[in-house]
Amino acid sequence: MKTKEAGPSRLADRLAAAAADANCICRRPETNVVCGNCSAKFFGRVQRTCPSHTHVIYLLDYGYCPKCKAPWRSLEGAVGGRNV
Ligand SMILES: [Zn+2]
Ligand SMILES: [Zn+2]
Repeated sequence: MKTKEAGPSRLADRLAAAAADANCICRRPETNVVCGNCSAKFFGRVQRTCPSHTHVIYLLDYGYCPKCKAPWRSLEGAVGGRNV
């Protein structure tokens, strides 16, 4: 009998690979974000494309300001908490 390929060990491998990748931002912590447009503050993560995993999108991340709906793309410089 052959053991199954897919399983938790595979996921663990991928997470370990992500953690080892210096460019990977998938596992960055939540931070205080200030909207450069309306100055609204909230706690969370700005949606960014991971350089190492460009196909991965985190739906819980904010793609735009929840208050004024301004896209972060134009506010990139105003977003704080990037202490890498
Ligand atoms: Zn990543
Ligand atoms: Zn805003």
